[in-house]
Amino acid sequence: MPTEPTPGTLYIVGTPIGNLEDITFRAVRILQTVDTIAAEDTRHTGNLLQHFQIKASQLSYHDHNYQSRIPELIEQLSQGKAIALVTDAGTPGISDPGYDLVKACIAAGFPVVPIPGPSAAIAALSASGLPTAQFVFEGFLPPKGQARQERLQAMQTESRTLVFYEAPHRLRPTLQDLEAVLGRERQLVLARELTKLYEEFWRGSIAEAIAYYRQREPQGEYTLVVAGLPPAKPQLTEAELKSELLQIMAQGVSRSQASRQLAKVTAHSRRQLYQLALSLPAPQQNPTEPSLTIQKLD
Ligand code: SAM
Repeated sequence: MPTEPTPGTLYIVGTPIGNLEDITFRAVRILQTVDTIAAEDTRHTGNLLQHFQIKASQLSYHDHNYQSRIPELIEQLSQGKAIALVTDAGTPGISDPGYDLVKACIAAGFPVVPIPGPSAAIAALSASGLPTAQFVFEGFLPPKGQARQERLQAMQTESRTLVFYEAPHRLRPTLQDLEAVLGRERQLVLARELTKLYEEFWRGSIAEAIAYYRQREPQGEYTLVVAGLPPAKPQLTEAELKSELLQIMAQGVSRSQASRQLAKVTAHSRRQLYQLALSLPAPQQNPTEPSLTIQKLD
């Protein structure tokens, strides 16, 4: 690892999403020693710098001035200056200004170095209790119109966990739209005010979340983590179903119970399975022996 900061380098510096203790030693050192800090909101970053007693030269870099700022920052890099990019909270470039600057620096041949830190999406996902092996980060949904509908529709068949950002005043309409597309029962986690005093993880179905927020006003910052589409249950042929039912019933289980067990793990209704079970020979009664098949199905 070369001595940091290296001249002519852009550092992408993660900053806290609430709790100031979440800044890294390396982030503090980089912010202390770069020539310029490009900040989304210089007043906001000023408070952070003051807290860590960092004296640094700041330049505003945000959604409304990035086009004119990029050539200025590239010019500074070409003079051998080191620059840190920060946003108001979390990791720059993640639903925050930054991507265009990173792209421009790479195109101009300047190194871009991440200084990893917090991100609300990863913090929410990591403690959500929903599957983390594969996930899709959706950022903010388009606020309305066809773009929003198209993004929502595209999620309908998504089996990976979905992560969204949402403003509190838009939480209710977003929950309604998610219900329309993903269904009432889909599980979700509302991660609110992460790392702050009123941090909260609310867990339940989309319908329950809608009911919950009918009673109270959404407040604070929210990250939504939504379960992906569960894997489809298998469709079996009639012969396969009969064979499965017979195996379960051979353990001394009643027709009704066997149908209930099999309905849990196949795409077939309990009623349909019970009708099939009625066409089979009566089960052998041997209730003292536990059934491996039944244990597995439970
Ligand atoms: N770049 C940031 C990151 O890496 O997390 C995200 C910036 S984005 C402009 C801001 C959104 O992130 C908020 O509207 C909210 O959805 C989410 N967010 C930020 N801080 C949060 C927190 N403390 N708790 C929950 N969500 C948060």
